[in-house]
Amino acid sequence: MSDYILVLDEGTTSTRAMLFASDGVLVASAQKELTQHYPKSGWVEHDAGEIWEKTLACALEVIPKAGGAAMIAGIGITNQRETVVAWDKVTGEPLTRAIVWQDRRTEPFCSELRQSGHEAEVQRRTGLLLDPYFSGTKMRWMLDNVAEVRAAAAKDTLAFGTIESWLTFKLTGGAHVSDASNASRTLLLELAGAGFDEGLCDLLGVPHAALPQVIDMSGTLGETDPALFGSAIPITGMAGDQQSATIGQACLTPGETKATYGTGAFVLTNQGENIPQSRNRLLGTVLSQIGGRRTYAIEGSVFVAGSLVQWLRDSLGIVEVASQTEELARSIPDSGGVTIVPALAGLGAPHWQAEARGVISGLSFASGKAELARAALESMAHQTHDLATAFAADGTPWETLRIDGGMAANSWMAQDLADVLGVPVERPDFVETTALGAAMLAAAGAGLYPDLASAAEAMRGKLMRFEPDMDDSVREARLASWKKALAAA
Ligand code: ADP
Repeated sequence: MSDYILVLDEGTTSTRAMLFASDGVLVASAQKELTQHYPKSGWVEHDAGEIWEKTLACALEVIPKAGGAAMIAGIGITNQRETVVAWDKVTGEPLTRAIVWQDRRTEPFCSELRQSGHEAEVQRRTGLLLDPYFSGTKMRWMLDNVAEVRAAAAKDTLAFGTIESWLTFKLTGGAHVSDASNASRTLLLELAGAGFDEGLCDLLGVPHAALPQVIDMSGTLGETDPALFGSAIPITGMAGDQQSATIGQACLTPGETKATYGTGAFVLTNQGENIPQSRNRLLGTVLSQIGGRRTYAIEGSVFVAGSLVQWLRDSLGIVEVASQTEELARSIPDSGGVTIVPALAGLGAPHWQAEARGVISGLSFASGKAELARAALESMAHQTHDLATAFAADGTPWETLRIDGGMAANSWMAQDLADVLGVPVERPDFVETTALGAAMLAAAGAGLYPDLASAAEAMRGKLMRFEPDMDDSVREARLASWKKALAAA
């Protein structure tokens, strides 16, 4: 019986193919690292051709473990959001390097739009802010700066898309679609609008004709070219990574909240069918669209999380592997007064300071590797605490926080989050909730379950709970040092 689900999880640092059984158990996976290109300070690029080739290679590696393409009920795609690919619809080839979500190059254009007074209206309509993070201004940058992109636009062969759109184009042999969750990260989709908005496209100077069709996130969304895997496989689930993780954590009821700690950190609270309107610089985003019906989430994104640990490893050489930060943090009773503000790529929610840069404060001759590693992990709880305050002010306080992502494996950090936030933190035994969410969407979309809620119920694993246990005085002292260091950033 064909009841396996193949998930293509295209992250920032690697791309993976993961084979799930219909009960949510991971059966096989393959992973390949992606080359990161940093051509200038604040610029981050990927090679879209490499993303496709490595994704395809990973899929080809795991499909035989299911017994062939015919045994797979559906493919679920989940991806790094906001990253923009420009390709030629006729040749199917990328026209330039993909501009990655972390890239800050469009800040001058964003600032121009903010100064001409567009932010309030853009926020009301799209749920987003005028920040380089989102896809639309990246598309405009490519048009302004890459001759090949302009030439394709003039010939009407230009296709813009986020990563799920690019992968679906390659998998299907030519469909140009984007799921509603990814589309809601472009600045070009109204939260309540079915397709990309002509007025918003005009404001950003992006040709509507170059954009994909906005589609559902579960159901029959496409079919792979039979030449790729031996026989056609339906594509039945699609979601941006953070929406996928929210679904994978079964946050399907309004108020339920998850935080993912990967390269960056992303917190989403389910808002049901109410269109979110934040008054505290949080984002409104599409959480799901199934049968044309949408649910929404409030989101707070922090740009630097695990990438700070990577920086400790690769640039400072303080650890050899990321997980060593845990034993270093446990080896001392406190950070010895060291506080890190990880604004290495600006500050995201709720501060939104694109030009802010990192700070390490409180250094003394007693500060060593352990203090720096501990301060780096502590900064995750501090950043999350700032978000918790903004979510509460928007009327959505957290009762518990469900965590996941590569960094959530760090149990010291999980306990510190519970301590500083003062709420229980839950971590599933299976932390790959981004992939699991796509598997749930794809399983429901392939008809293995009657709906998403039943898929989530059946496929969700066991949880571990961390209860808050910190003196108020310690918490207050930590937050006071954080505020001081933040002011310096
Ligand atoms: P992404 O999906 O954004 O590529 P992942 O969810 O795979 O990221 O998480 C990888 C990040 O988590 C890396 O930046 C790494 O430094 C960090 N990380 C992984 N394991 C640990 C750990 N045990 N402690 C601290 N950080 C970790």
